[in-house]
Amino acid sequence: MTFQDLNLNTPLYNALDDLGFVTPTPIQAESFSVVASGKDVVGIAQTGTGKTLAYMLPILRNLKYSRQDNPRVLVLVPTRELVVQVVSEIEKFSKYINNRVLGVYGGTNINTQKQAVAQGQDIIVATPGRLYDLAVSRVLQLKSIQKLVIDEVDVMLDLGFRHQLLNIFDILPERRQNIMFSATMTKDVDDLITDFFINPSKISIAVSGTPLENIKQVRYDVPNFYTKVNLLEHLLQDKDEFSRVLIFVAYKRMADRLFDKLEELFPNETCVIHSNKTQNYRLRSIEQFREGENRLLVATDVMARGLDIDDVSHVINFDTPDYPENYMHRIGRTGRAEKEGYTILFSTEKEQEARERLEELMQMSIETLELPQDIDISTELIEEERPQLQERYNPIKRRDEDAPGPAFHEKKDKNKKENLGGSYRREIAKKYKKPKTRGDKNYNRRNKKK
Ligand code: AMP
Repeated sequence: MTFQDLNLNTPLYNALDDLGFVTPTPIQAESFSVVASGKDVVGIAQTGTGKTLAYMLPILRNLKYSRQDNPRVLVLVPTRELVVQVVSEIEKFSKYINNRVLGVYGGTNINTQKQAVAQGQDIIVATPGRLYDLAVSRVLQLKSIQKLVIDEVDVMLDLGFRHQLLNIFDILPERRQNIMFSATMTKDVDDLITDFFINPSKISIAVSGTPLENIKQVRYDVPNFYTKVNLLEHLLQDKDEFSRVLIFVAYKRMADRLFDKLEELFPNETCVIHSNKTQNYRLRSIEQFREGENRLLVATDVMARGLDIDDVSHVINFDTPDYPENYMHRIGRTGRAEKEGYTILFSTEKEQEARERLEELMQMSIETLELPQDIDISTELIEEERPQLQERYNPIKRRDEDAPGPAFHEKKDKNKKENLGGSYRREIAKKYKKPKTRGDKNYNRRNKKK
């Protein structure tokens, strides 16, 4: 099957030609007619399978030219990084189409975004919080939305966006097409579908838990953090082979710790992203990695999910994730768009159980490699690895260091200001010495009539 078999139009064919895309990926081939039919759709596909194009192609194909200000397509994604990425994908495919696309997300000046919205848009790509704020401010009118796409729903629900999603559903027109993509089916996702989707068509490419076949997986048993660092150093010395390496760790502190080590070992080759880093820092890190300026990127699970970075030569699981789904997401960063991928898993003694669980999910065992001879086996332990003698069992204490807390929505200083009401109102108040509100206006009008 080629794109010629899909009922596209010349502008789209030209854009695809420019990008060198010839064959639709399986999710694209399956989704096209279903999404185009206007029915509600639930797609289960891992990132890297080409799912952005799977929903955007039929949408762009059917989006008529319009001068109306209110957007007609709304794409919700969980992170700001994804907003940037999806907007850039849409722009590539829209190269020969006269449409207006805008990405909006929190942590940046809302007034600039309001101005952009007010200019009139066709497609809005947004994180839920900022989208809701814009809608409540009435600058963004959602009454013309015909298609709602929610991408990476599982991540979105993981991050606690359910409430915000429901708020948004409330203000959207009832007659609309719902299109949803998720990498995994979870109970939360299922509940959301049952509550809000009308008899959706399900398209499932890789059943959750099925690794992409073009990813070679191997693993090492490694006793502790420092030995893992030694093994990593050994592997990464082969710069031709390990040309673009994404290294996953479970939580922020570990990300920083590993980043510091790698900076020592491979100066100016490493960058890091996690949710305590500022938006600009994260975008810069991703850019440096994507452009090949930096060869190594250390990332936590939540930050890296959904990221589309081409040609990742290796995904290294510096630890073994507790949730097998996270492993699936991690390894999905390599072997994208049907290219060969390679992933390596490090497991300590403590992590063997988690490793068994993920092998069970995949129904395969990962090939085990012997530690290379010249690796120093360290006996030094990091804080988390030392026996916790003092620690008593305390069911109330939660180990939620990496829970996506407020830092995820971290605001710039200038946005932390208290909301004093619209600046217009304050300016007028300064000028006229008393607040001039609609209330006053009516009062004055009434008084005038008398
Ligand atoms: P996604 O799963 O949407 O994040 O897409 C993964 C990557 O594959 C993106 O960089 C796309 O530009 C690329 N891609 C999507 N569809 C195709 C295709 N049919 N042929 C080649 N590359 C594609």
